[in-house]
Amino acid sequence: MANPLPLQARAAVLESFSQPLRSHSFPLPTAPEPGAALVKTEMAGICGTDVHLWRGELPIRLPIILGHETVGTLVSLGEGLKSDWSGQPLAVGDRITWTSTTSCGRCYYCAVKHQPTRCPQRRAYGIGYPCNVPPHFLGGYAEYHYLQPGANLFKLPETLATESVIGAGCALITAIHGVERTGIEWQDTVVVQGTGPVGIAAIAVAKSSGAGRVIAIGGPDHRLVMARTFGADEVISIERTPEPTDRILAVKQLTGGWGADAVLECVGHPSAVVEGMEMCRDGGKYLVLGHYCDAGPISFNPHIITRKQLQVFGSWSSEPRHLQAAIAFLERHSTRFPFASMVTHRFSLAEANEALQTTASLQSAKSVIVPDSGLLKPSL
Ligand SMILES: [Zn+2]
Ligand SMILES: [Zn+2]
Repeated sequence: MANPLPLQARAAVLESFSQPLRSHSFPLPTAPEPGAALVKTEMAGICGTDVHLWRGELPIRLPIILGHETVGTLVSLGEGLKSDWSGQPLAVGDRITWTSTTSCGRCYYCAVKHQPTRCPQRRAYGIGYPCNVPPHFLGGYAEYHYLQPGANLFKLPETLATESVIGAGCALITAIHGVERTGIEWQDTVVVQGTGPVGIAAIAVAKSSGAGRVIAIGGPDHRLVMARTFGADEVISIERTPEPTDRILAVKQLTGGWGADAVLECVGHPSAVVEGMEMCRDGGKYLVLGHYCDAGPISFNPHIITRKQLQVFGSWSSEPRHLQAAIAFLERHSTRFPFASMVTHRFSLAEANEALQTTASLQSAKSVIVPDSGLLKPSL
């Protein structure tokens, strides 16, 4: 028999931008409303976006519990919640993950144009819900997580490690969506700009989508080693090749002078877009994937798109079906694409600030919070 649920539980709360997170207790919604669920957090990933949110670089309302990459164990289910997004039956004790966002399913973008990632009603756990009102627990940096009616839950296969799911995080589903929109043909030469989590995931997705050769551009060196592990055939260091013109030349030399069939931008800096289009072959494809935050404008000559007959794509977030595909992909390819190894730094909930700092300073491949892993420091 499981222990009874506590009446209160703790969370690391962002109260003021760029200030340390503070530990707070909130009443636990132990009896979920119909269609909702309560989950005990097993592991919460720290995404680079969390650092931007912490600094106030995206318009969010405070206070908030950050964390939109989470795995947990179902502790109570609201009436009517019987199965996950895929139709698998759900029960207390199941290990699950979920999409951070939920779309309405009825609006112009959801129902007519089939672009649910552009649904105006979309809100994300760990980003879009202040925590000072019930049910409070709507982010990953907490002992428990509440899932509202309509959330997209996925029961995890026993053979899939929690570290794989969190190591892949929102980067993998973002990359799956982006590559899907761009389309990669068998044996294409693909350049991936950026070797952060989205870049690493894009390498794996491009390679498993049939790319013949993947050239990764990024740094520092430990990220380039990781890029090779995840399938990059060639790497170009931005530290050793600091000039964009030299990097463009390097790509041209590696592609017989033609340029790449597809270039995937996973950097988030506007100058990468200008540089990356120069790396495309004529008639090639260019994906702008890394600009989740508004990093500002840049001087740009659109003549290159006309002259090269480029196809330019954008991609925002992901849909539930991308998470379903990611779970199957991770389960099948844990050796070839070792996302579990991305989890390099673990912290207790009381150490949430340290977790955020290691992500902000790029010390970790992936930092995670494991709420059960340590005694809570009351001084947080
Ligand atoms: Zn994220
Ligand atoms: Zn909608």
